[in-house]
Amino acid sequence: MIDQFIRRILGKKVAAPSSTSRKKIPQEVPFKHHQINQDHISKNAIKVTHTLQAGGYEAFIVGGAVRDLILGIVPKDFDVATNATPEQVQSLFKKSRLIGRRFQIVHVTFYGGNKPEIIEVSTFRAMLNNESEHINESGRILSDNIWGSQSEDAARRDFTINAMYYNPATQFVLDYHGGMKDIKEHLIRMIGQPTQRYREDPIRMLRAVRFAAKTGFSIETLTLTPIAELAPLIHDVPSARLFDEILKLLMSGHAWASLEALRHVGLGQGLLPMIDAIMQQANEDSFAKIALDRTDERVQLGKPISPGFLFATLLWHEVYLGWQNEMSTGKPQIPSLHDAIDQVLANQREVFAIQRRFETDMREIWSLQPRFEKRIGKMPYRLLESPRFRAGYDFLCLRSMADELPSSLTEWWDKFQTASAQEREQLILDAKEESLLNPSSTPGKSRRRRRRSPKQQALTNFPDDSQQGL
Ligand code: ATP
Ligand code: MG
Repeated sequence: MIDQFIRRILGKKVAAPSSTSRKKIPQEVPFKHHQINQDHISKNAIKVTHTLQAGGYEAFIVGGAVRDLILGIVPKDFDVATNATPEQVQSLFKKSRLIGRRFQIVHVTFYGGNKPEIIEVSTFRAMLNNESEHINESGRILSDNIWGSQSEDAARRDFTINAMYYNPATQFVLDYHGGMKDIKEHLIRMIGQPTQRYREDPIRMLRAVRFAAKTGFSIETLTLTPIAELAPLIHDVPSARLFDEILKLLMSGHAWASLEALRHVGLGQGLLPMIDAIMQQANEDSFAKIALDRTDERVQLGKPISPGFLFATLLWHEVYLGWQNEMSTGKPQIPSLHDAIDQVLANQREVFAIQRRFETDMREIWSLQPRFEKRIGKMPYRLLESPRFRAGYDFLCLRSMADELPSSLTEWWDKFQTASAQEREQLILDAKEESLLNPSSTPGKSRRRRRRSPKQQALTNFPDDSQQGL
C-alpha cells in the first residue's frame, strides 16, 4: 500500500520496492566458462553497448542472444539492457525510436548491409508485486514500465537461460539465476514461482515450449507441471501477441517439434484449433507435415519464409474439406472455394486473428489453386503473369507432394514456365488431350461456367505486387 502511494506521488517511472527486489548477487562467469565467440556478435550491438557505457550508463547484451551465443548459435537479433531511461537512450542515438506502450523500448536502427538492423534497447525493469495496480484480477501484467535495478530486471525475465547479461567490453557474463548450470543440464527453468509467472503472462507457456523445441532442452518439472492446468489462460492474451508468438514458434526452424511439444504439454488440445486440426491429420505424408518440414528446412538454410504462405498451408486442410462440402451441395467450384475460405478465416478470427495483410496473401494463394487446373487457351499465360504465381505454384507443389493432385500437373507447370512460345502451344494441346483421356478427380473437375460476383472478381484480380510467396 505504502509502496503504491509513494509511486503514485513520485510518478510511475520509479522502481517499486517489492518482495522480489532483494538485491541478488550475480555469478560472474569468465570467458573460459562461457566461451562466447565475439565474431558471432553484431557489430551494431557492440556499438550500442559501447555508446551507452561511454555515456556513463551500464549496458549489456541480454536475453536470447546471450543464451544462443553460449550455445554457439549465431543469434538472429540482439537485445541490449541498460540502466539509462528510454529518453536517455534516445538522446545518445540519432536513429532511434521509442516504441510500445505496455512495454516501452527503444529501437536503434543501423543502415548498411542488405537490410537495416534494429537493436532493441530496454531499460532495467522492476518486478511488480501482486497488489500492483499494473496487474489484472487473473494476475496478468497490464503495464510494465517501472524502472528498477539489474537484479530486479533479471528476476522478471522468464527463464534462467534467458536472464544472463553479457558485457562485450569485459567479456563477463552476469548470471543471476543459475542459467549457466541449466544450460549445462539442458533445462528450461522458470525464474520464480512458475504458476504465478504464467498467470502474469500466459504467453510464457508457449515460450517454454518454443525454447524447448529450439534448444532440444527439457522443460524442468516444476516449470512444466502447471501448464496443463493453466492452459486456458492463453485465451486472455491479446490476439496480436498470440499471433506474434505462434508465428515465432512456426518460424523457429523447429515448427513441427514445437507443435508436438505443445500438444504434449496440454496446450494443443482445443486451445488453438488450427494446431489441433493439423496434429489430427498428421502423418508423414500429410500436407501440413510436408509443409512444416519444408518451412523448417528453409529456416535452417537461412531462407525467407512468408507468413501468409505458412498460414495458408496450415489452414488448407480445412479450406479443402469445406470446399468439397460446398461443392457436394451442387454449388459451382469457384464460389464454393470462396465460401469455404470465408468460413475458415471467420473461425480462425475467433481464436486469434491473422493480420489482414497475411489473410490477403492466404486468400490469393488459395484462390489461385483451381486456376492451375485450367490449362486452356490464354488461361495459363494469364496465370503466369499473376504477381502471386510463384506462391501459388509452390503451394501446388506441396499439394502434389501430399498426393492431393497428380504430379503430372506440377510437371506440366514446371515445363510451361521455362518453355518457348512454340513449346507452350504444344503443352496446351497436350494438356487438352490429357484432360480428355483422364478427367480430373479433384475439386477442379466442375467445368460449369457462371457469372462471377463482383466479390469473386475482386478476389482473382491480384494487386500489382511483386512479393513472392516464398
Ligand atoms: P528469440 O529472440 O530467440 O526468439 P528471446 O529469448 O531473445 O528468443 P525475445 O522475445 O526476443 O526472446 O525476448 C528477449 C528477452 O526478453 C528474453 O530472453 C527474456 O529475457 C525477456 N522476455 C521476453 N518475453 C518475456 C516474457 N513474456 N516474460 C518474461 N521475460 C520475457
Ligand atoms: Mg530475441
